[in-house]
Amino acid sequence: MYFYQRYSFFINILLAYLFVLFVTIKLSLIWNVTLVTLLFMSISILFYRYAKQKHYYKSIIDNSTNIVIVSNEKKLVSANRTFFKYFKGYKNIEEFLQKHHCICEFFEEEEGYIGAVNNGLGWIEYIIKNSEVYHKTKVKIYDKEYYFAISALVLDKKDNLYGIILSDITEQENYKKELEILAVKDSLTKIGNRRFFHKKLDEQILLTQRYHHPFSLIIFDIDFFKKVNDNYGHDIGDKVLVEYTKYIASMLRDTDIFCRIGGEEFIVILPNTTKDKAYALAQKIRESVEQYKAVLPITMSFGVAEYEKGDDEISLYKRVDLALYKAKETGRNKVILG
Ligand code: GH3
Ligand code: MG
Ligand code: MG
Repeated sequence: MYFYQRYSFFINILLAYLFVLFVTIKLSLIWNVTLVTLLFMSISILFYRYAKQKHYYKSIIDNSTNIVIVSNEKKLVSANRTFFKYFKGYKNIEEFLQKHHCICEFFEEEEGYIGAVNNGLGWIEYIIKNSEVYHKTKVKIYDKEYYFAISALVLDKKDNLYGIILSDITEQENYKKELEILAVKDSLTKIGNRRFFHKKLDEQILLTQRYHHPFSLIIFDIDFFKKVNDNYGHDIGDKVLVEYTKYIASMLRDTDIFCRIGGEEFIVILPNTTKDKAYALAQKIRESVEQYKAVLPITMSFGVAEYEKGDDEISLYKRVDLALYKAKETGRNKVILG
């Protein structure tokens, strides 16, 4: 049987050849009938095996956890069973094609993810041309967002047919995004952390050097905060930090970058803001904090500085930090311009 499986194609050719030969040399009818029967059986086995193999592959593809589809750039041609687990509203490809043409209609445009068009190329063409890259796509189906790793191969160049495999990576992507947020967010106050501040300050300096827009920093620190913890406990201290952060955030613009860079020390990057404007804003925050009295009454000291030509991250930070130090040294609850 193994021998037959391996050489079935050649066996069929040989049988056909013998049949032609026997007819040509006019061998007895019995020989011809035997040969035709053998040839018929052999071809039947071949077709049976082919059908069985096709069935195996279809089962594997249907039971894959990946979406497997055949498509040309514009229209879906066939899809495995998993496809309909995601597109639950459609029972089969015909139903799907009544409302849609392409899975790419569900792609969400976002940087880093394949959209329907990429740098002027159709999505499949783009994937195939950049096959060495790990491609991902963001897909929205019935208001639910999924992320898929996506790969494509050419099935039939003439007919423009491609095989596409989409593996669900939603869990990994969401986890990665959460980690990215955690890496730049302060866990207590939910504003940016020190790392985020340094990243944004770098970016802001580059922008200012290129476009010559002014920008300023306000740094501030709660006065005698140690006493709050000592007298009322750490939990109340935390509440003070959270409440006052929210309050100050409500006084800032969406474009301002507010970060907690130490225990009770904060900084705001103010794009497109001169030192005079920043000073006025710091005074407003200082007065508002003094009057707010949420959880406990507190005061804060402030340093303000504007980016000056030739500044780098270190020199600018030093100047604003020195201004804060002077505010502390000269009595606290005040704003000093650096
Ligand atoms: P100054 O006016 O000179 O700034 O005095 P201060 O007491 O505010 O400054 P100091 O640096 O002596 O103390 C800061 C205190 O902030 C010490 C620490 O207990 C408290 N702190 C730092 N991080 C946290 C935090 O996450 N939660 C709470 N509750 N307290 C914190
Ligand atoms: Mg303090
Ligand atoms: Mg401090």
